[in-house]
Amino acid sequence: MRPFLSVIIPVYNEEAGLEILFSRLMPVLTEMGRPFEVICVNDGSRDNSQKILESLHDRYPDQVRALCFMRNCGQHPAIMAGFEAMRGDVAITMDADLQNPPEDIPKLIALIDAGHDVVGGYRCNRNDPAYRRAISKLSNIVREHMTDIHMRDHGCMLRAYRKEIVDQIITTGDASPFITALSQYLAMNPAEIQVGHEERAAGVSNYNLYKLIRYNFDLITGFSLVPLQLFTIFGMVLSACSGMLVLYMAMRRILVGPEVDGLFTLFAILFLLISVCMTGLGLIGEYVGRIYKEVRRRPRYIAKEYKQKIAMDGEAA
Ligand code: UDP
Ligand code: MG
Repeated sequence: MRPFLSVIIPVYNEEAGLEILFSRLMPVLTEMGRPFEVICVNDGSRDNSQKILESLHDRYPDQVRALCFMRNCGQHPAIMAGFEAMRGDVAITMDADLQNPPEDIPKLIALIDAGHDVVGGYRCNRNDPAYRRAISKLSNIVREHMTDIHMRDHGCMLRAYRKEIVDQIITTGDASPFITALSQYLAMNPAEIQVGHEERAAGVSNYNLYKLIRYNFDLITGFSLVPLQLFTIFGMVLSACSGMLVLYMAMRRILVGPEVDGLFTLFAILFLLISVCMTGLGLIGEYVGRIYKEVRRRPRYIAKEYKQKIAMDGEAA
């Protein structure tokens, strides 16, 4: 039977939490009384995640599918692979570490049933370290002001999407897709709902500071040119100021005579201008790097094997 609901879960080194996840997820989905599938995308885990996913597939052959990547491609590409494989009318995305409680899924589906095409969760009482909450808050403020994407919490992956929206996300062909923002951008009738947030069931976060910065660059460069424009405006203002300073120095040279003091002031000004130029070059580099990534057109992910029992469009799986 074709599923109504496709739950998509990216998995990266989550061996310690997968069993607990399924012990909570499966009863919730079964109780909803609608046909469902769970698509786990193993994003190149180096632990035992693949073995556990295979055993889960053996235990629930008609419901659990497990796609395995050759290497670690990132959380969002993993979700994209799930979107491409889904057969349901509605997709749910969630994390594998139980930070998104599966018990909230029926709340999201109720809003989909009410006619919304995208339902986003937003987290209150986040169970994350203070620095993570601070980065998230800052990132949401920056996104709110620098892009046209307006939502409460773009970092929350517990979300529901109608298949039409998923199809549009797939066709964007974005090399670094930022799914939460992209779905909000494409939605005609989005809704938001408060969801729970728990401590990681086991293991540690896969996001270090470097990955978080990259992740936020994906969001801002993907949806806004404001950083570039701000830099241009800043450059123009600085050029005008330096122009006036040069004019003043020239006048002073003519009217008062040569100036020997103030050398270090000039150095300071010079260093400031050089650092501004370097920041700008870095910023432009971000956008150029992104264009380069798009031009190369490398696949978003490379799949190794697929564990599924469900027949796809009439052919044997
Ligand atoms: N994840 C992934 N690939 C990665 C990083 C993370 O598939 O390169 C998955 C991870 O297994 C989890 C989800 O994405 O299901 C969220 O990751 P994590 O919990 O580490 O992030 P955090 O909650 O700390 O932001
Ligand atoms: Mg997590």
